[in-house]
Amino acid sequence: MNLYGLQKMTLLDFPEHVACTVFLSGCDLRCPYCHNFELACGKAEAVMDEEEFFAFLKKRKGLLDGVAITGGEPCLTKGLLPFMERVKAGGFAVKLDSNGLHPQVLKEAVKNHLVDYIAMDIKNAPSKYAMTTGKDLLDLRPLKESVDLLMEGSTPYEFRTTVVREFHEAEDFHEIGALIKGAKAYFLQQFTDRDSVPFAGLSSPTAEEMGEYLAVVREYVPSAKLRGVEETA
Ligand code: SF4
Repeated sequence: MNLYGLQKMTLLDFPEHVACTVFLSGCDLRCPYCHNFELACGKAEAVMDEEEFFAFLKKRKGLLDGVAITGGEPCLTKGLLPFMERVKAGGFAVKLDSNGLHPQVLKEAVKNHLVDYIAMDIKNAPSKYAMTTGKDLLDLRPLKESVDLLMEGSTPYEFRTTVVREFHEAEDFHEIGALIKGAKAYFLQQFTDRDSVPFAGLSSPTAEEMGEYLAVVREYVPSAKLRGVEETA
């Protein structure tokens, strides 16, 4: 298995862990606001293979205690589960990011105790999911299955939404709230524009708008929080 990016240390990507972040290639969505679009489209160059990564990890034992796996959509990578197993066998905790469309992979990871934390995207209200993810049509049954898997299981998790002014409005957070009602952890994070974002002209909601959306979703998910934005009330 190849790696398409490696951040050697992060205090932010994996809650309560000093981790490195591994980037895998490929994604089945085409979100117009994607920060890793080259990776998502499979156009990024590999930076190292699995053996080089485990040699790196061995040297960092004692400095790092976790590995965050992101993409793209990591669940599409053949070899993901054995890779996670090898990370765990080395004594490191594993965090997995996912767009939630591959419940079978999440299920296997959970069942075999290969993952310590799952961060799953909720892109938008179900009625706007396809347009928010660059698709004409999208079967949301796998997404719902992943939501149920996380909410009914014991693996720590978070749901999160990157909020883009052109795609989200207050009404959407009623639908999202109904989808993940009672979730243990849900974060709203503000979109930030970058040169690598495929769709030009997208913008960040204001802090006030973020606060408004938070208030809506807290009717369903009282634990919901903003990430990277000061709460205004
Ligand atoms: S799911 Fe994530 S990696 Fe895939 S296109 Fe959307 S933002 Fe990019």
